[in-house]
Amino acid sequence: MRAGDLEGAVSGGAEGAAALGKLTSVVLDALAEGAVTRGGPLPAGGPQAVARRLRAAVGPVLPEYGTGAEEALRTVTRAVAEGAADPADPWCVAHLHCPPLAVAAAADLAASALNPSMDSWDQAPAAAVLEQEVTAALGALVHPGGPAPDALVTSGGTEANLVALLLARERAGAATVRVVCGDTAHHSVRRAAWLLGLPEPVVLPCRDGRLDPAAVDRALTGLAAPALVVATAGTTDEGRIDPLPQLADVARRHGAELHVDAAYGGPLLFSDRLAPRLAGLSAATSVTFDLHKLGWQPVAAGLLTVPDSALLAPLALTADYLNADDDTEAGLPDLLGRSLRTTRRPDVLKIATTLRALGRTGLGALVEHCVRAAEELAARVDAHPRLRRRPGDTGISTVLFRPAAADALTGEAGDALVAEVRRVLLAEGRAVVGRAVAEDADGRRRLWLKATLLHPRTAGEDLEGLLDLVAATAAAVTPAVATTPGAATAAAAGRIRTGNEPEGPR
Ligand SMILES: *Cc1c(COP(=O)(O)O)cnc(C)c1O
Repeated sequence: MRAGDLEGAVSGGAEGAAALGKLTSVVLDALAEGAVTRGGPLPAGGPQAVARRLRAAVGPVLPEYGTGAEEALRTVTRAVAEGAADPADPWCVAHLHCPPLAVAAAADLAASALNPSMDSWDQAPAAAVLEQEVTAALGALVHPGGPAPDALVTSGGTEANLVALLLARERAGAATVRVVCGDTAHHSVRRAAWLLGLPEPVVLPCRDGRLDPAAVDRALTGLAAPALVVATAGTTDEGRIDPLPQLADVARRHGAELHVDAAYGGPLLFSDRLAPRLAGLSAATSVTFDLHKLGWQPVAAGLLTVPDSALLAPLALTADYLNADDDTEAGLPDLLGRSLRTTRRPDVLKIATTLRALGRTGLGALVEHCVRAAEELAARVDAHPRLRRRPGDTGISTVLFRPAAADALTGEAGDALVAEVRRVLLAEGRAVVGRAVAEDADGRRRLWLKATLLHPRTAGEDLEGLLDLVAATAAAVTPAVATTPGAATAAAAGRIRTGNEPEGPR
């Protein structure tokens, strides 16, 4: 291959692999270099310093003349890796933001290289079959007794919830469906109702982070309209699972339908030990199930599962250039009705590869690992003299806690300290910890730090140092918070980590 050939080289075909091999090795080196330069879970210095470094490294993003494929890959990849919040670091635990499995990322390269588009058979002949097999299998995992279990591949839980509400709206026909959910339901549920022109959902206050069947019963008794109860299996803030069997029962008695948002909790089904926590799930008319949370897929990998393929019929659509009636009659599979999107990435390729590589029990073991790591972390918080855990059981793999120093402050200052600790850790590039508002033992809603454990290899002991760091940071910023909230964050952003100082027990 001559110099300069790589810029215009395509990724597919027999020749494509050679070009891709050369360029991939550049990317892999740059990824490793970026991670070493970063030296922690996220870049130090806060947003302005990160922006400055990225702009300095990348320069003009639409240059008049190109720099060549290898240089561009090296520069951009290194800059983005150096400035990444990397969920592969055990102290990057803020969100349902998983470290992708290497096998899934490698499979995603094949998806990009081949670029099947899932909107018509003539763009994805084999990928379409693979999607059919995987969606049927995962549909059957969620709805084992269903007449024809199926699933749509979505961009994530947001799109899956949107499609679930859309299908409920269509089933209601001329009547207007009313969504009933808890105040811990994901924001995408309310947004979907808004987008679909449905009335504001009935949002019920949760008890201990869970939707109360008695409250749902009362709400449904007062509703004249057809209702869709939306329960959550794994709340975003705490990983709590609504009482699905009781909710299914209440919904059935009122002739309402049940949608379960199991974006977080769905993969518990891979584990024989944990699947019973989702008892009642199969009573749902539809289920949201993400594989880019517990599932370790690169974004995007979402699903909406249904017990019966026929439930997806409202999405049917004909466009002459993609699925003309005569083409369909002649036997060309019709894919257009399997998504709201038209052009669509073959996300199923990485999913299928991962399912095959690990098997159900292999994935189940990883889910069990995360659940165990969260239980260990909760025990360590409980044993820590300077931290306090939110009372109650841990969710799936989420632990809420706060520095005891915050409890010693009066009024809003306690919550301000919790928020400041999180921002200082971010600004110093030391840890990515989340935040959540949740009820305390005295019934007051307080701000907590949140650790969402999705790393398939991290153990509780890897997080002991993080707990000490949180407690020490709280002690250091308490005087500043008492006078000027935000001051400690600004000071931390000014102290760029050199990479030479001791990192603490990592
Ligand atoms: C993450 C999440 C969503 C949204 O899913 P995306 O994949 O981010 O679109 C919906 N519901 C719950 C419970 C979630 O945790």
